[in-house]
Amino acid sequence: MGESEALGSMARLWLRPGREKSLLRRHPWVYSGAAAKIEGDPLPGETIEIISAGGEWLAWGAYSPASQIVARVWSWEKPEQPGEALISQRLKAARDLRVAMFKDQGNGLPDGLRLVHGESDGLPGLVVDRYGETLVVQVLSAGAERWRDEICGELVAQHRPATIYERSDVDVRQLEGLPLRTGVMWGSEPPERIEIEEHGRRLRVDVRKGHKTGFYLDQRAARRKISALSRDREVLDCFCYTGGFSLAALAGGARSVLAMDSSAEALHEAQQHVKLNGLDEGRVESWQQDVFQGLRALRDRGRSYDLIVLDPPKFAATAAQAQRAARGYKDINLLALKLLRPGGLLATFSCSGGVSAELFQKIVAGAALDARVDARIVDTFQQDADHPVALNFPEGAYLKGLLLWVP
Ligand code: SAH
Repeated sequence: MGESEALGSMARLWLRPGREKSLLRRHPWVYSGAAAKIEGDPLPGETIEIISAGGEWLAWGAYSPASQIVARVWSWEKPEQPGEALISQRLKAARDLRVAMFKDQGNGLPDGLRLVHGESDGLPGLVVDRYGETLVVQVLSAGAERWRDEICGELVAQHRPATIYERSDVDVRQLEGLPLRTGVMWGSEPPERIEIEEHGRRLRVDVRKGHKTGFYLDQRAARRKISALSRDREVLDCFCYTGGFSLAALAGGARSVLAMDSSAEALHEAQQHVKLNGLDEGRVESWQQDVFQGLRALRDRGRSYDLIVLDPPKFAATAAQAQRAARGYKDINLLALKLLRPGGLLATFSCSGGVSAELFQKIVAGAALDARVDARIVDTFQQDADHPVALNFPEGAYLKGLLLWVP
């Protein structure tokens, strides 16, 4: 921390009149439209004080001049000035939460686990996933970037990994005015594939090139439910990636699984996973195909299934893109509902931050109406407990899903 900061000449962001409301509810983002002026000359990522138009001290934030989110709150308490001590304390709390939530799953923490989930763990713009001895870090905001070295040091001290690998290759960094960056942050090069265990199944993760930080840890709880529902069913796994749901279904006794994805590499990994787990390769077929077209082709061939999983990529990052996303969701859900046999189940998901659970349910209801299918919600899905949602930050709840039963 620079001397000027220690002497208290910290830069200040003054809000426009009335724009303190969301901060008083402890929502951690300040949009640029809410800022009246910046006092001082803070660098990107530097700590600033956030002050209401009436002069009331509200929070410590990180300044991000390039972003529409001009500040992200580090702390609501004046004595809690951001720095290594605060980062250390937040990382410890994040770890305590995981220990509490996963303590029924044997000794220690699961080896595939999200350790830090950004704003919802009080660390805006920071994601840390653990794959065995390797930690994968995403630094997604100017504020997190400012404290990157301290974050790295604390992760080493608290988790004693062999490697910390950075996957800051996400578009949102560009909105923060930060360059994309990947590579070893600390320790040795990670192995080409890291093996983790999920519900007793072995999975290999490529932290360099895999999606997100390598794997979709957020669907852990959903994969467990799908496994329990798969016995004797013919399953269609759409957007299967490296086969998370396909393996769950096979292990749960599915009669057959058709795994569909547009990525040849992902399908190859999925096949490897079937072998690695000693599951019956004769019961799985993989199909490299665009799901929008594939579902139509299956309809034209008169195919039907007992259980369909629809887990598409993010169609809308923001609410502004929700309408286009809605068309995509409606299309695949309509087609999938028509492919279900009587008594069939559809597990349908959206990981679009811009589409709320309520909106998603409306879209799927519209699809059922047009498909002339009388479906019932029998369960709902959300991201697993290592992706918590801070109550003051509803944006953290990005993953939602419905389990539908059709008569
Ligand atoms: N269900 C997976 C995660 C799915 S991620 C799991 O549990 O691990 C989304 C997947 O959709 C990616 O593998 C991507 O390759 C694939 N994908 C994206 N657009 C697609 C499209 N139009 N058709 C088929 N697959 C697509």
